[in-house]
Amino acid sequence: MIIEPRTRGFICLTSHPTGCDQNVINQIEYIKSKGKIEGAKKVLVIGSSTGFGLASRITSAFGSDAATIGVFFDKAPVVGRPGTPGYYNTAFFEKHAHKAGLYAKSINGDAFSNEIKQEVVNLIKEDLGQIDLIIYSLASPVRKHPISGKRYKSVLKPIGETFTNKTVDFHTGAVSEISIEPAQGEDIENTITVMGGEDWKMWIDTLKAENLLAEGATTVAYSYIGPDVTKPVYRNGTIGAAKDHLEATAFKITEDLKSIHGKAFVSVNKALVTQASSAIPVIPLYISLLFKVMKEKGIHEGCIEQIQRLYSERLFGGDVALDEKGRIRIDDWEMREDVQAEISELWEKATSENLAEIGDLQGYSQEFFSLFGFKVPGVDYDKDVNEVVVVPSEN
Ligand code: NAD
Repeated sequence: MIIEPRTRGFICLTSHPTGCDQNVINQIEYIKSKGKIEGAKKVLVIGSSTGFGLASRITSAFGSDAATIGVFFDKAPVVGRPGTPGYYNTAFFEKHAHKAGLYAKSINGDAFSNEIKQEVVNLIKEDLGQIDLIIYSLASPVRKHPISGKRYKSVLKPIGETFTNKTVDFHTGAVSEISIEPAQGEDIENTITVMGGEDWKMWIDTLKAENLLAEGATTVAYSYIGPDVTKPVYRNGTIGAAKDHLEATAFKITEDLKSIHGKAFVSVNKALVTQASSAIPVIPLYISLLFKVMKEKGIHEGCIEQIQRLYSERLFGGDVALDEKGRIRIDDWEMREDVQAEISELWEKATSENLAEIGDLQGYSQEFFSLFGFKVPGVDYDKDVNEVVVVPSEN
């Protein structure tokens, strides 16, 4: 079929297999171009199909020749209806990994559930024996709790008072003012339950209890801090409370892993265009200015560049270089004083009329469509494509 982008607000309802394949190929090529990393050889990635999780899986596989198991939650295509991008990404990742002689299997289902954890346990027992690196890269708006069965929803709200600032509709370039009402009732607790560290710890507890963690096993989860301008809605908001919880959980897990000399880290990553970040008001305007400034300075990175640097310079580079709160910081270039000073200046000036010029609106939009396999250079979108692609290990 011919597949075109169909957007509704901040989401795209369709995705393009060939574009997703090309995105995976581009990331693999980037990793190969940077040379080998002496990293972990048996890797579990939880949240492996898009964004930072996919980049982590590609970096482990093609940078360190690692066997990878990926856990993801995506819709498979059916005749006449494309799958979600994470499904295509996983299918093509596996195809390229297998071609390169690498072990790669994937499990499509709810990572928060006991059933999927058990499936992963069985797979590791059967195929790999033990795991030496676990990347935890879930981003989800909901979580069904495996013990109570209750369904929790996370929200992106400020805490305490209404937050008013500028935002942009990146489809039209219209800059407007937006007010976001503060969290109410159980919003904060619920967001912590979904995006905090409880599930991360459950995964590690399960794997340890089954003796599936190798001596010295490492686990890494991803966090974000960001600038003052987004603080009320991000770091000091409900999602920030969840990230505080996630970061505190790293210390608990490290304590639990002492007997096997294992360690848990949180890596604070850079702001990037993903499905989740497009839905947070104010953030798209910040990202379009950030991209402009970082590109001009020659320090722009996407997910794959970020994770390549995380692995080669920090995790397996001899110096994790933790900050005062014990976190790895690969948002270091984003947070550079000169970068942030320029963004603050542009922030004051930004209007619908000048944003295309002073910000990288074009780059934002390009990245957004690229998440779904559209507008990827080199792909012929007029060509008929088979939408029904299958993840090889699901066969
Ligand atoms: P993403 O949406 O691109 O990827 C999320 C992954 O989680 C996908 O593979 C998806 O299939 C999987 N997933 C979601 N719910 C699941 C479930 N119930 N069971 C199994 N898999 C499930 O997200 P991302 O932007 O790469 O974010 C990953 C992590 O990085 C998050 O913790 C996020 O907060 C953090 N982070 C993101 C940014 C950013 O700007 N995007 C910056 C810093 C840190």
